[in-house]
Amino acid sequence: MSDCIFCKIDQGEIPAEKVFEDEGLFVIKDVNPQAPTHLLIIPKRHIPTLLELEEQDRSVMSRVHEVAGKLACDGGFDQSGFRVVVNCGAGAGQSVFHIHFHLLAGRAMQWPPG
Ligand code: 5GP
Ligand code: ZN
Repeated sequence: MSDCIFCKIDQGEIPAEKVFEDEGLFVIKDVNPQAPTHLLIIPKRHIPTLLELEEQDRSVMSRVHEVAGKLACDGGFDQSGFRVVVNCGAGAGQSVFHIHFHLLAGRAMQWPPG
């Protein structure tokens, strides 16, 4: 998608600090962090929201969660806890319509999120 921020970051057209990448996804630091550690795990395919997932996305969706756990362990958050969040739709707070998973860690988490 030519006007998508995350597609542009993936293509190197907008700078971002990639902390991890494989063939199906990449991980960047959120530009406006909501926790001491706030990473975005982003499938490379331009999927707007959870509602547009297709069968071809099954492996990357599994990989997203595997990578989230690995990065949380790498950061030392396996004992203290961490949160993986996906916002679906503007009413839920989604502002970038290229699917992404927030990995939040390093502070106490409240429930419900609000
Ligand atoms: P959403 O609100 O869609 O769930 O999350 C979008 C996230 O992307 C927000 O937390 C926002 O701070 C982050 N974000 C938006 N634009 C950029 C950008 O250009 N670079 C980075 N690293 N993060 C961005
Ligand atoms: Zn995109």
